[in-house]
Amino acid sequence: FEVPVAINEPVKSYAPGSPEREEVLNSYKELYNSKINVPIYINGEKIETGNTKPMSPPHDHQHILGEYHLAEKSHIDSAISTALEARKKWSKMPWEHRAAIFLKAAELIQGPYRSKINAATMLAQSKNIFQAEIDAACELIDFLRFNVQYMSEIYAEQPESSSAAWNRVEYRPLEGFVYAITPFNFTAIAGNLPASAALMGNVVVWKPSDSQVYSAKVIMDVFEEAGVPAGVINMVMGDPVMITDTVLANPDFAGIHFTGSTHVFKDIWAKIGANIHNYKTYPRIVGETGGKDFIVAHHTANPQQVSTAIARGAFEFQGQKCSAASRIYVAKSIWPEVKDSLLADIKSFKMGSPEDMSNFITAVIHEASFDKLAKYIDQAKSDENAEIIAGGNYDKTKGYFVEPTVILTTDPKYTTMETELFGPVVTIYVYEDEKWSETLKLVDGTSEYALTGAVLATDRYAITEATDVLQNAAGNFYINDKCTGAVVGQQPFGGARASGTNDKAGSALNLLRWASPRLIKETFV
Ligand code: GLU
Repeated sequence: FEVPVAINEPVKSYAPGSPEREEVLNSYKELYNSKINVPIYINGEKIETGNTKPMSPPHDHQHILGEYHLAEKSHIDSAISTALEARKKWSKMPWEHRAAIFLKAAELIQGPYRSKINAATMLAQSKNIFQAEIDAACELIDFLRFNVQYMSEIYAEQPESSSAAWNRVEYRPLEGFVYAITPFNFTAIAGNLPASAALMGNVVVWKPSDSQVYSAKVIMDVFEEAGVPAGVINMVMGDPVMITDTVLANPDFAGIHFTGSTHVFKDIWAKIGANIHNYKTYPRIVGETGGKDFIVAHHTANPQQVSTAIARGAFEFQGQKCSAASRIYVAKSIWPEVKDSLLADIKSFKMGSPEDMSNFITAVIHEASFDKLAKYIDQAKSDENAEIIAGGNYDKTKGYFVEPTVILTTDPKYTTMETELFGPVVTIYVYEDEKWSETLKLVDGTSEYALTGAVLATDRYAITEATDVLQNAAGNFYINDKCTGAVVGQQPFGGARASGTNDKAGSALNLLRWASPRLIKETFV
């Protein structure tokens, strides 16, 4: 079968007076004023366990949006056993029918669910509408559509045969169930991690981040309406250690699809190792973890382009991207111009609640994140090798607001050049123009991570050298651009070193991790 050709979902403008702007604002108001109850989803049933936690907007933390229900260990056991039961039929469902379900999910988000999933993402993850649209609508739709295309291309890939012997490959799902753990920062990733494994015929136990449950509910409702059968994707919230330990102790655990922090992923990997003798199959381990992403600007770079790359790379999405620019190296001769233009950009950023669409910066996700950022900002205020040249204020009275902050340091190994902060704080180090080659080595050696990075230069030798020296420093490497904004179908996304297993989200490579191929040779003579 030929599947519909995947195209990127066009981003709507939400311009003043546009119908989509009015629709999303209505949806936002309606959700703000209703109390949503998020059950756990097991075998197509919505279970209210009675043990609940409240949900609040990060920009308005005294307001209660509703509550979500927490699973007990027995719920996790039943999520696993119902998934395995569902597997009996799902793993045998012809792939074009699985494809049709997820293509329908894409259409539901494209149309009837668009304003709801965007409003949920604005409310509970504090994204402005433009960020919500790029993430919860377009990127999630793109993941669903492009993965269907990649799946059909994978299935078409077959070995040579002869008239006497026919070789064929069956891309079987993994034997067991897949565990998906998803982060708060992207609604698209939350939908993609369970969906991509399920698309390949697997059954899934999914644990969304506590800070993303609100939009996860919309995703589950979309999956249900699109026709994902009961038990194929089960969503559970609760004590993360209990859930993970229960899942990893199960002999049918066959793989993990993870996006989150490096230390949690390493703990999980160690637990999988400790359980290895219990499993029926070697589990697939796929994870995208942290980043300490760089921009390095050569003295031949266009200063305006450098400042735009910093402002957008560091502060869009409140810097809450694994790919966010957070350590910057700028050549001394262009720094004065870069600085003036960067400070002017930052001055133009308005900060506040997402329902005011002129706000560019909103709140960071929760108090722990706010406190961490405040701590590093305070430290920079008192350290003599650091100076705050923009922002530096924070306030959590109503919401967790942290101003876009620029730390200038004279120490290339300064703590915020090395530590992932996951917020709107960027650190800049200015190097002597002639120390370009040493600086590249510094960029490569400063961080344990290797997710994204960018070089800006007009001198082609400088670009060539950076591309070579930084060969292992980033899984997504940008030339004359910011280091964020990978688009599904165009820039498959992921990094190595402490940033993950680099199984590129939105690619055939990723989908293949959810298949266990069987080669069949049939002889006719
Ligand atoms: N794909 C996103 C980007 O390129 C980042 C995803 C993430 O933060 O995990 O900006």
